[in-house]
This record gives sequence, structure tokens and C-alpha cells, in this order.
Amino acid sequence: MAARAKSKAKTARAKSARAKSVRVSANRPRRASKGNGAERGLLARLKEGAVICAEGYVFELERRGYLQAGAFVPEVLFEHPEVVEQLHRDFVHAGSDVTQALTYYVHREKLRLIGREKDLAPMNRAALRIAKKVARDTGTLFAGDICNTNIYDPNDPQAIKEVERIFEEQVGWAVEAGVDYFVAETLAWVGEAELALKAIKRQSKVPTVVTFAMHQEPILRDGLTPAEACRRMEAAGADVVGLNCHRGPATMMPMIRDIRQAVKCHVAALPVPYRTTPQQPSFMSLTDPCCNNQRAFPAGLDPFMATRSEIFAFGREAYALGVRYLGVCCGAGPHHIRALAEALGRHPPASRYSVDMSKHSFFGTDKMIRRIQTDYRDKA
Ligand SMILES: [Zn+2]
Repeated sequence: MAARAKSKAKTARAKSARAKSVRVSANRPRRASKGNGAERGLLARLKEGAVICAEGYVFELERRGYLQAGAFVPEVLFEHPEVVEQLHRDFVHAGSDVTQALTYYVHREKLRLIGREKDLAPMNRAALRIAKKVARDTGTLFAGDICNTNIYDPNDPQAIKEVERIFEEQVGWAVEAGVDYFVAETLAWVGEAELALKAIKRQSKVPTVVTFAMHQEPILRDGLTPAEACRRMEAAGADVVGLNCHRGPATMMPMIRDIRQAVKCHVAALPVPYRTTPQQPSFMSLTDPCCNNQRAFPAGLDPFMATRSEIFAFGREAYALGVRYLGVCCGAGPHHIRALAEALGRHPPASRYSVDMSKHSFFGTDKMIRRIQTDYRDKA
């Protein structure tokens, strides 16, 4: 531990020396680092500008045919680790500054539910190993992740004990892997978020991001508004607070605005890429008029998908509000992450393939496009 603290102090000195000698523009693309640990930590990067964090891994893996909707447990970590690694790389290629370990729903409660509790430790370690490899290869931040347990009940001391155990052990594996910072996400109870933050603080000194997930009600399940809940998390020592998942940009932004005003620390906004409405503010509440108004979640959400330009607009709006920790959650594909990066004025590697219609066979403007095609444009 002492040696680690020493080397940490050394890195901190090196970092501040670099900060003095180099003027870094707010949204400059990151250069790859192959050292032990990301070259600049989360808080240093947030000071310079935005940090983009791709989330929503389980939804994307479900779409790709490697994960079952319902339990949403990423057994793919064992069955096809190469697919998980590639998805991490796809998100980095598209502009994510973070490689977040896919430990979402790799907790004791979920594994018990699918009869794989014995795989708990190796599955967490597999997720952390894969993410760390990509993070260190690409110079992105390596984030540990803990999430909603689905058993938290403020009136059940036994359940609270089990939640504490779940957080404690998952945090332990992430600390062992050497994460650069922690994310505690998709929490609908302030009480559960407090337990998550406590577990992180007990075992680690790295920064922590805490994000709540808002269902249809404008309050968390224990009655607090998201702004109050975030203020409480800031007071408890979270470095970044905000919202992720459940709500699309349209129904998340008003709450983000309140949170930005309520706290002094950095704010996070990671909506789902779906067109939620005031009447159906969460993606679980969306119903599809084309299909007898059935619940669209989780496998029928496609017609509600936000376009790249909607995610671009969300990125612009959130950044202008002063929100620095940005991402997209369940439903996000690399194209959304690229749109978000471009909204911040960045040009990630994937931007080499961003839409350019000038050479399109009907809508192009290039003089090599034949008149016979462009004249037919309105009928195409
Ligand atoms: Zn999500």
C-alpha cells in the first residue's frame, strides 16, 4: 500500500508538471497510453472538458445476439469474451474516453437468479480483465462498475445486509484490478446509493461517479427529488453526480438542469437513446401504438430510437448547461457515441466514416454524379 501511495504521489507530481507545461484544448482527442493507469485521471480530464462514457453494454450485446433480454446477465463474458472486448473497442473507436468494466448485473443476486452464483468471482474478474486490457491499450480510463441490486428494501435489515455484501465484494474485485475510478449506476433508491458509495469509500480512494435512474415518478423511490438526492451524494463524497438510464434526453434534461443548479461538483447525464415523452417518461413505460399499445421494453423499442442528430443535440445542450460527464445508456450503439463526441467538437477515429452525402448516387453534389440520377432525386 505504501509503495502504491508513493507511486500515486509521483504520478500526481508528474501530472501537475505536465499540466503546467502543456496547454490542452478542451476537447482534444486523447493519445493512447500504455502505462499502468490512465495518463490523466477522471478529475483532471473533467477539469479540461467533457468526459464521454459509453454505457448500455447489455442492450447492445443483446442486439448482437450474445445476451438474453430479461435477466440481462452478461454471461457473454465467459462464452464470448472476444465480443465484449470488441464492443469496448468499438465504443472507444467511436469516442468513449472510458472503458467501463461490464460488471453491470454480475452481482450475487443476479447470478443467483440464473443459477450461476459459483461463477461470481471469476465472472467479475473476467469483465475487469477485458476492460482493463482495452483501457490500457487505448489510453482510456478504466472504470469499475456497481449497480442496482434489485433487492434493496429500506425496511428489511436482512436485505440491506445482502446489498452491503454485494457492493463490498464487487468493489473489492475492482480495487484488486486497479480501476481508475468507480461508477455506481442505475440506482433508484438514495439509501442504496449511500450503501454503494460507502462500500467504494471503504476500500478505495479513486474518484466516484454516482448516477440515479429515474422511473416514471419525478422522485426517487425513497421520496427525494433527483436534485436533493444528488446534493446528498455530493455531501457524502461523490465526485460526480447525476442521472443515467431509464429516461431519454427529452425527459432527463429538465432534471439534469435542476441537478446542475443544486450541486457544486461535476454532473453526469447518460440518457437512453429513446424518444420518451412527458406521458411516458421512462423507456420501460413506452407503449407502441403500432402493436396494440403493448409495452415496447425491452425488445420492441426500435421505433422509439433517437437519431444521431438527436443525440448530437443532447450533447450540445448538456455541455452548454455545464454538464461534463456525458454518455448514452441502454440502447446506445457506437453511432450514438460518435454523434455525442462530434457534438463536443471532437473527431474520434470513427468520424472518418461520418455521413458525407456529397457523393451519393441521388443526393450528391459532386460533379461526377450524373444528371440522370440527380434529376430523379424527388422520386427516389
Ligand atoms: Zn441503461
